[in-house]
Amino acid sequence: MNYKDYITIVEDWPQEGIRFKDITTLMQNGPVYKKAIGELVTFAQEKQADVIVGPEARGFVVGCPVATALEIGFVPVRKKGKLPREVISCEYGLEYGKDCLTIHKDSIHPGQRVIITDDLLATGGTIEATIQMVEELGGEVVGLAFLIELAYLNGRNKLTRYDIFSLTTYQ
Ligand code: IMP
Repeated sequence: MNYKDYITIVEDWPQEGIRFKDITTLMQNGPVYKKAIGELVTFAQEKQADVIVGPEARGFVVGCPVATALEIGFVPVRKKGKLPREVISCEYGLEYGKDCLTIHKDSIHPGQRVIITDDLLATGGTIEATIQMVEELGGEVVGLAFLIELAYLNGRNKLTRYDIFSLTTYQ
């Protein structure tokens, strides 16, 4: 299966010079979405994950179906001010802009095997911030899983300590 056939490239969005990879067209196709998630499920299963963590919002559409398929929990990572209980936070740089991510303080238990999911690995800033918070809470990050990797932004170089699975790569 060539997943690229189902991903739409949107030129100059959300700003000039960005070639945005739109996964909504992949998600609109039920069998393709299911197959894509199934591959991430296999990865998470092999890693014996106890819990899936995903940053908003596209990390949810990837991570939640993986978690329910494995009957394990899903923990959301959200932008500042969105989670209702006590959080820890981490600032990070994006491919475009800067932001602050948060996670509930009681969401990860020490020693839990964690898989972090997102739709896309670009510079790695989002995932690096997520890893930092998971590890601060005592979780063991056993893998990182993406639908898309933008190899030319070298996110992997920030994440050499981790096992990375990506369904499709843009060079
Ligand atoms: P990073 O932090 O630079 O690795 O950027 C990854 C984050 O930005 C992910 O949460 C993505 O959802 C989002 N992102 C960056 N570029 C794209 C894109 O081309 N398509 C979809 N999401 C993107």
